[in-house]
Amino acid sequence: MKYEVRRFFIVIFSLFAFVHSDADNHVGGYVTKKIERQSLQDREKKEVQSKKYLRPKVIIVTTGGTIAEKDDPKTGGAVPAVSGKDLIQAVPGLGKLADIDVVQFSNIDSSHMTPELWRNLSEKVDGVLQDSRVKGVVVTHGTDTMAEGAYFLDITLKSNKPVVFVGAMRDASDLSPDGPANIYNAVLQVISPEAQKFGVTVTLNQFINSARYVRKTETTNVQTFNSGENGYLGYIAMGKVHKFHDRVPAIKLPLPKKLANVALLKTYAGDDGNFIRYAVDTGIKGIVIEAVGAGNVNEQVAAAIEYALSKSVVVAIATRVLNGSVYPIYGDVGGGKALQKMGAILVGDMTSPKARLLLMLALSNNRCAQEIRGYFRF
Ligand code: ASP
Repeated sequence: MKYEVRRFFIVIFSLFAFVHSDADNHVGGYVTKKIERQSLQDREKKEVQSKKYLRPKVIIVTTGGTIAEKDDPKTGGAVPAVSGKDLIQAVPGLGKLADIDVVQFSNIDSSHMTPELWRNLSEKVDGVLQDSRVKGVVVTHGTDTMAEGAYFLDITLKSNKPVVFVGAMRDASDLSPDGPANIYNAVLQVISPEAQKFGVTVTLNQFINSARYVRKTETTNVQTFNSGENGYLGYIAMGKVHKFHDRVPAIKLPLPKKLANVALLKTYAGDDGNFIRYAVDTGIKGIVIEAVGAGNVNEQVAAAIEYALSKSVVVAIATRVLNGSVYPIYGDVGGGKALQKMGAILVGDMTSPKARLLLMLALSNNRCAQEIRGYFRF
């Protein structure tokens, strides 16, 4: 009996061991496979993560402009309508270029931009550039005041990482909007080794312009931005940045908390100078006069400039002429030479809207007229 019982248990036991090892094998096999699958998935995830980590990171800060506008049946015109996220989703292949994050700063037509908004934008952009993984920033902005916005950041940004302003001349509901290609090229520029020393640029229609020299020259054509006699910094084609020049040396000023009040007035034939006197009496700290020719004004305006200087208002002389510089050539009343002798500052080849921003930032940092004169020689 004892023998049968023992044999019975040996059979049961060996059966159990066999089943178990087989089950284990089966169970074990299943578990092993599950573990293998899991570790494969983990490995794949890690790989994707590491690839993602290795891919350059670019932040797109959106502010509005035609690039984010659409036709509005109610007003019958284009209005801000496309969110930052939607804007980026409309650009095929962007995610292959870089790891993209979007920051919606605002969504306004750039005719509504102000130096105060550019002040906050500069702070925001410098903030996101602190992240060591971030290669650079693309700012989408309306083209009407893009040249000034880019220049404001060119002066105030602490970071030297690439910042590319981009926009569009055709809105998102137009036939073949130019926005998506411009955004793609801007990201390509940010991650391109050739474009690391361009500072802040305005890049539309494949042309790369320095913030210092760029100006809008066409009201509707996609090829609206150029840099006049100073030329482009580069061109984007075949998925590559073709560099022509290094950036121009930058004037750098700390980002002030509060901006000084600086006016910009255009003079014209028969101007009696009263608008200048009125502006001075409203307490402005500085004024840019957009003069004619190489920087000349008439007698009444020269007298109004003298009045402004007597009130310690800093006066800068720019020109309405598209190309060339303001020079101290004419010595007659109101001529550039005479104005310079009076104490006005000639701004060289800087456009009057940018001269206003530079004067504003210099005065907001308590720079004196002598120092400011030095900035306009750049
Ligand atoms: N009005 C538009 C803007 O500046 C023009 C454009 O973006 O092309 O915001």
